[in-house]
Amino acid sequence: MATEPTAIALIAHDNYKSAAVAWAQRNAAALAGLRLYCTGTTGGRIEEILPSLQVTKLLSGPMGGDQQIGALAAEKRLAGILFFIDPLTAHPHDVDVKALIRLAIVHQTPLALNEATADAVLAHLLG
Ligand code: PGA
Repeated sequence: MATEPTAIALIAHDNYKSAAVAWAQRNAAALAGLRLYCTGTTGGRIEEILPSLQVTKLLSGPMGGDQQIGALAAEKRLAGILFFIDPLTAHPHDVDVKALIRLAIVHQTPLALNEATADAVLAHLLG
């Protein structure tokens, strides 16, 4: 039986999308062995630069993508969530972001909210 690759979620708020893409480029070799779930716009940006990665694009964050990732965490289908949050801008879907963080806590999903912890979570996954 074929085994599923380890799956992680990668999300970035608009002001951090370039940082997330740069992070993904820097870690492309490691990410090549993983399945990536992304919110719609973030996933599109990653695919443009790294077309060989396995990216599953969900809805855009404000349209429900963060909630979809929360559901994946609740189903224990994610080994980690990397969420490049913009702490200096108000977001209409702030409650969705909060719900995602809550579900990651409830389901013990490693959760990185900035680049420094994204590095740490990835290193942990590659262990
Ligand atoms: P996006 O969603 O990747 O579709 O922009 C991210 C977010 O704002 O949660």
